[in-house]
Amino acid sequence: MATIEERYQHLEKTIRGYNISADLSQIRAAFDYAQSHHGAQMRRDGTPYITHPLNVAQIVAELRLDSESIMASLLHDCIEDTDSTYEDIAKRFGVTVADIVDGVTKLTHINYTTMEEEQMENLRKMLFAMSRDIRVVLIKIADRLHNMRTMEYQTPEKQRKKAFETMEIYAPIAHRLGMQKVKWELEDLSLRYLDPVGYEEVTSALAKKNREYQAFMDRIQDVIVEKLGEMQIENAMVYGRVKHPYSIYRKMFSQDKTIDEVYDLFAFRVLVNTVADCYNVLGVIHDLYKPVLGRFKDYIATPKPNMYQSLHTTVIGEEGIPFEVQIRTYDMHAIAEYGVAAHWKYKQGIKQDDKEATYGWIRRLLENQVDADAEDFIHSLKVDMFDDEVFVFTPRGDITNLPAGATPIDFAYSVHSAVGNSMVGAKVNGRMVGFDYVLHNGDIVEIQTSKSAKGPSRDWMQIAKSSEARSKIRQWFKKERRDENIANGRAAFEAELKHLGISLSTMVTQEMINRMLKPTNFRSLDDLYAAIGYGGYTAAKAAHRIREEVTAQSRAERSAAEAARKEAKKALSPPPRTKSEKGIIVEGLSNCLVKFAKCCTPVPGDDIAGFITRGYGVSVHRKDCPNASEENRKRDPGRWIKVSWGEDTRESYTTSLEVVCKDRNNLLMDISAALSTGKAGVASLKVHTTTDGFAIFYLTIQVTDKAHLDIIMAKLRNISSVIKITRTAG
Ligand code: MN
Repeated sequence: MATIEERYQHLEKTIRGYNISADLSQIRAAFDYAQSHHGAQMRRDGTPYITHPLNVAQIVAELRLDSESIMASLLHDCIEDTDSTYEDIAKRFGVTVADIVDGVTKLTHINYTTMEEEQMENLRKMLFAMSRDIRVVLIKIADRLHNMRTMEYQTPEKQRKKAFETMEIYAPIAHRLGMQKVKWELEDLSLRYLDPVGYEEVTSALAKKNREYQAFMDRIQDVIVEKLGEMQIENAMVYGRVKHPYSIYRKMFSQDKTIDEVYDLFAFRVLVNTVADCYNVLGVIHDLYKPVLGRFKDYIATPKPNMYQSLHTTVIGEEGIPFEVQIRTYDMHAIAEYGVAAHWKYKQGIKQDDKEATYGWIRRLLENQVDADAEDFIHSLKVDMFDDEVFVFTPRGDITNLPAGATPIDFAYSVHSAVGNSMVGAKVNGRMVGFDYVLHNGDIVEIQTSKSAKGPSRDWMQIAKSSEARSKIRQWFKKERRDENIANGRAAFEAELKHLGISLSTMVTQEMINRMLKPTNFRSLDDLYAAIGYGGYTAAKAAHRIREEVTAQSRAERSAAEAARKEAKKALSPPPRTKSEKGIIVEGLSNCLVKFAKCCTPVPGDDIAGFITRGYGVSVHRKDCPNASEENRKRDPGRWIKVSWGEDTRESYTTSLEVVCKDRNNLLMDISAALSTGKAGVASLKVHTTTDGFAIFYLTIQVTDKAHLDIIMAKLRNISSVIKITRTAG
């Protein structure tokens, strides 16, 4: 086993190998600082603690990161685990290094165990978003990689927990950064603890076949290289690999296959100088091996929106073994990588001037990922751009994502509308802030509430950025303004009833209202009005239910009256008190001629008055007919006579209605249907249409009595575009 100093020397050697301008004295100072601060701390495997930061720095150096990244890697656990502080590190090694260490420390504090499945994607995004410096994420990944490599010394419980986190969080992030090798190692190490049996099955099968697989790939590579040479394709680079254990494991278990049955165990890439060569190579490959139908994709002719270009194909090799081949130029490779970096820079909001200096190393990093599946990499980066979101913590460490520009008000309402409604103050990272404070990634937000809070104010609607918060605030105003809502709701309800021809004061009893409310959650009519007022219930629905009640009631009354009448008839006959004519009793007269006035066509149930005509007996008018007005009756008192409806009314009476409508198609049909379902006999129906688009119907119909007529009129009122119905009079 190498000593610590030997390992440090190895680190320096690695750094010198790619960065001749590295500041080795500062790196040495960071190492010494970390070593003295960690002091006698030990790891679970019995080695001094400093071996951990040293190994993390080694991984980071192998990723070819800059001096500041190496220093931050060496110092990454100092703030967390020793008496060192941010200020001290900033003073000795600069603010940038201190910021990176601080960023890594913050990521360590996220409590993953409380995360629900659906929080995982948020978390991955947030790790990017809150690490304003991407080096924070890279060091965190290196940290996790080393911890996973040394996980065998941990308790089984911790092994499983860390393996789960790694599989869910860190491997996908490594994938997004194009660190395919790191991703594979993280996945394979996690699998070892998540499914030890499955892991063993795959790795031992691979080990057994390793020689065979290697030989297969070597043969394929040789064949391709030789053929490309024959075709005089210059400067071609060909390489192949076996997919890693976890990806094979996934295929075996998701498709229930043995390792021999797993399709696509091998992948090759060919890089060439020119586009013409790409197609030449494709021709060569398809010449050598049989292509699998439907697996060829030409991203050169049709580049992806992110400029990615490449040819993809899958072919069948010797012994029927399939493998994938990706073909592209070195330029395409570089352009694809550069495009991503440009996108990344833009999204990170880096200032134009120092872009290159800051991100040149990312490009170098990307260029080193020759094994990366560029397509997947670019695709996932593209999907994950998220400059329209901000990620913040609850005091418990849960993550909430909100639209960019969100304020404590948005946060409060995202927790619960009750929290928003009783909010009296907000703290961000322990400090009081205004309600219009704009939240930043990684902020810890705490909402202060009070039972005596006044509730939201109108200007919150402008401050809130999320539609969720705004709609909850709107809802509050709706519910809190009960009086206003009751008044509005009542007006809407009554208007609706009026439309149906029902009068709330005379036709609707408390009993009907109770029956209507019973199946609902409203305990009183006011509750119902309030609900109508804020839009929780519709006036039309309530009115419709009342109409059903009214109809049922009048039907019941009619049949009760009918029964009573029959009863009375039986009991009273013979001596009829006064004989009626056409159902009309004329006071003091019997056997007199009776006719119904054409002007107002009364029906049983109407208030009526009789007029003694010259020679035609008594003419019966409705009392509300202009011809039977008080004035008229006073002017000629000798000719007006009291009449009333007898018990032996006839089966039907003729009466007239005038219906004013907005003219439209099918109007006549709807009116006929209403009359027919209302069981009204139609004696005549005339229509007069006006030039300004109205239609006036003059109906002469036969009804039993006033209750029957009311039902017919209600049905007619219910027809859309019917404006007004009047009984003809005068
Ligand atoms: Mn660590």
